[in-house]
Amino acid sequence: MNTNPRKIKCRQCGNETVFSPENPFRPFCSERCRLIDLGEWASESYKVASTEINSVQDLEEQLEAMEARRESTENFKKN
Ligand SMILES: [Zn+2]
Repeated sequence: MNTNPRKIKCRQCGNETVFSPENPFRPFCSERCRLIDLGEWASESYKVASTEINSVQDLEEQLEAMEARRESTENFKKN
């Protein structure tokens, strides 16, 4: 179990929240922020890459992959 959830800032409103399974709206603080960003991100994505997003789960996987990439970059810099 992760007993030390990472604190992040909501990508939409900037409020502090946690990036953990306890926060189903991560990386946002609330469903409202998540839906706002989801809409913006999806429409950008359609314009740029014409990638189809079939489900919210697809999007979550993409977001977590992005987070993982960012983390590995940060770890690389530290080492
Ligand atoms: Zn928010």
